Amino acid sequence: IGKDILANGGRGLDAVEQVLRYFESDPKFNAGIGAVYTSAGTHEMDASIMNGKDLSAGAVAGVEHVKHPISLARLVMEKTSHVLLAYQGAEQFAEKMGIKLVPNSYFDTKLRYNQWQEYRKRLEEGKHGTVGCVVLDEYGNLAAGTSTGGMTNKMPGRIGDSPIIGAGTYADNNGSAVSGTGWGEKFIIHDVAFNMTALMKYKGYSLKKAANEIIHKILQPNDGGIIAVDKKGNYVMEFNTLGMFRGVATSSGKFEIKIWK
Ligand code: ASP
Repeated sequence: IGKDILANGGRGLDAVEQVLRYFESDPKFNAGIGAVYTSAGTHEMDASIMNGKDLSAGAVAGVEHVKHPISLARLVMEKTSHVLLAYQGAEQFAEKMGIKLVPNSYFDTKLRYNQWQEYRKRLEEGKHGTVGCVVLDEYGNLAAGTSTGGMTNKMPGRIGDSPIIGAGTYADNNGSAVSGTGWGEKFIIHDVAFNMTALMKYKGYSLKKAANEIIHKILQPNDGGIIAVDKKGNYVMEFNTLGMFRGVATSSGKFEIKIWK
């Protein structure tokens, strides 16, 4: 989807939004339908998007009735003077923008329900499945977006890294476009996505060196991973977990999907 949009001269932001809308419609991913359950048995979703050209950004947190949180995040970026809207305020804004709200049960899936029950039985870490997309478009602009249902059995009201600009998402044409997945609290504390750009801008690190530093030296094993791209088209998909579902498509014809190391 992203490749087609970009090959037809589309903007990076459109590619990010449409790729993430696709994932949000697929119950296999922990975003939109298929979002994990909170400890109260409901779904609360977070999403964010950022434009590396002018550092504009938008995000929503704790939305319970919006099919495509990523599109609402984009509306926050483009139609308000704010960066992050949460809970009822975000949903009132969605309605004002003409988005039809859906019952929270729309996001229910058997898979996530069973995972939640398993989690409660064994108190083990739930499966992830946050979705993210980072893009360099033909105009030389970077864009990034992330969408998630959060972590299985999270407390109602818990907000993770995904809607926090600088934690789970960041894009700066002078650094990198980054989307993260993993243990959100760690990503917030270490400002993972912003620090990628900080290491590149202020310390002259390459994308690869910055990713290595953050994923393997600052974060701890099993905390998570990132996908990132810079303005030269270098990309990394670095993680310290066992695996990370990931893929890349380039204008030179590379098309690759991977799970394990
Ligand atoms: N980072 C997400 C969160 O903490 C979860 C994930 O990536 O699986 O909300």
